[in-house]
This record gives sequence, C-alpha cells and structure tokens, in this order.
Amino acid sequence: MAVTKSSSDGAHAGPVMRKALVLFGPPGSGKGTQSKFLVARFGIPQISTGDMLRDHIARRDQIGKSVQARMESGALVRDELVNAMVRERLSQPDCVNGCILDGYPRTRQQAEVLLDLLKELGLSELVIHLVVDYNIIIARISGRRVCPKCGTLYNSSSRPPRVPGVCDRDGENLVIREDDRESVVRERLEAYERQTRPLIDFFRQQGSRLLEVDASHGAPEAIFGQILADLNRLESEVTLGS
Ligand code: AMP
Repeated sequence: MAVTKSSSDGAHAGPVMRKALVLFGPPGSGKGTQSKFLVARFGIPQISTGDMLRDHIARRDQIGKSVQARMESGALVRDELVNAMVRERLSQPDCVNGCILDGYPRTRQQAEVLLDLLKELGLSELVIHLVVDYNIIIARISGRRVCPKCGTLYNSSSRPPRVPGVCDRDGENLVIREDDRESVVRERLEAYERQTRPLIDFFRQQGSRLLEVDASHGAPEAIFGQILADLNRLESEVTLGS
C-alpha cells in the first residue's frame, strides 16, 4: 500500500492514499466542507468541478462564457467539458497519491469516463455518500454565503462569520452565490435526483467501495468524525479480508 497518513488521535489508522475519494450528496449536503477536512487530513487535493467552472466565469474566459447561463439556471454543463477539465487536473503531479472529487461525476457518462481514467492512473475509487433530507437542504442553502475573494463558505446558522455579512479572513462583504437562490436550488436538486443519485447504484454494481454517512444533523466536525470512523472500519475490514 502506498502511503499511510499517520494519525495522532487514532481516528484513522488505515491506508487510504492512492485513492480517489468520490463525494456524493445533493447540493448543500456539505461536500465542499467535508472535502476541505479530508484535504487537511490526508494531504491530497480537492478537485471541485463547480469551483473550476466558477473560476472560468470569474476570469471571463471562453469556457466561462460558454457555461455561465447553464450554471446560473442550475442545469448541468456538458459532459465533454467537465471530463476534459478533470482529465487534465488528475494528470497533475499532486494527484499521484489520490484526490478528493467534489461534484464529479454527476452523470453516467462522467462516471464511466472517471472509472477508465482512474484505471489508467492506478487509483481506486471509494465513494462517500452524504445522505441529507431535501427539506434540510433548502433551509441550509438559503442561509449560505460565500466570500467573493477567498471562497470561504459561511452559513448563518451552522457556521456564521464573526461579524455578520463579513469574511473572517479578509474583511470582504459576503455574497449569495447566484446558484444558491431558492428556485435554482430546486432545479439543482432535481438534476441531482434525476442524473446523479442513480450513480450510487452504478458504482455499487461496479464493485466500488461505498460509505453512507448521515449528514442531516450535527456539526460538520462531527460528521467528519463519522466519515473517518467509517473509513477506518472499511480499511480494517479490507486488511483483514485480504
Ligand atoms: P457545485 O458547486 O458542485 O454544486 O456546482 C455548481 C454548478 O456547476 C452545477 O449546478 C452545474 O451547473 C455545474 N457543475 C459542477 N460540476 C459539474 C459536473 N460534474 N457536471 C456538470 N455540471 C457541473
């Protein structure tokens, strides 16, 4: 096994590197927050196709212009485009020990491309499904704010900034992401239900390892603790069984 991140608190003792941790969950389930915890814990990069696309929009480049309208309506952008972005990103040296995929794949075609890509790179996938009730999501997303400068996410109930409406890190005024507006959130949930949620069964059928974590309640840190405990259990089962 390639790399084992040692742990001082014993929450994770098994090897997880050389893996793509694929986070599934509807928009607002906490994928971005949990990804950041996983990055800090395991030292592998987060690949968020949503962030990459928003970055293109902010730079007003060709890709940004081509995806802006679809993103703002809550619909998915073209598979070919995101597949190419992910292929390029995964080929970079910092992904050699694995990565955290946040918001990709979202369609069957993306999932198939990803499995081929991971095979080429010698990485195996481990799916983490964050399960959250849709009503909780709508309430959660409506309180969400983001710093337009550094990208830090806040939530008026679960993660408020020290000064309301202002980023703790750089003092910038927080904004509502265009695709966090309620009508758009409903469209995004619809797209998730129709196109993305079925992929969990697809991965199961492919024999991928899968964790289901209840992410409806509790602090993000507690949910992360659950993910680590489940990862640990899964790794020891694999070790015992191999
Ligand atoms: P996210 O921040 O991951 O919720 O993504 C925000 C928006 O970016 C989505 O509603 C889509 O319009 C677009 N997007 C992000 N990732 C993908 C993907 N893998 N496939 C298609 N569209 C995506």
